[in-house]
Amino acid sequence: MAGFKESAGIRPITAVIAKETMACLICSIIDGRIPVKIIYEDSDTVAFLDAHPAAPGHTMLVPRVHAARV
Ligand SMILES: [Zn+2]
Repeated sequence: MAGFKESAGIRPITAVIAKETMACLICSIIDGRIPVKIIYEDSDTVAFLDAHPAAPGHTMLVPRVHAARV
């Protein structure tokens, strides 16, 4: 990642978050890099149909902000 230097194995927290976000499936969906059928969205959340539904209408409701653990 450009703009920061790693030293002694310590990385700035923004670099860690950016790396997690780039690898995160949910963030890829939120960013529009993976197309989904969005059924609701607001400033904090997005709801979309699951690509492999367990039942008809299986919906994922996720925060817009990356969270490693929910
Ligand atoms: Zn994420």
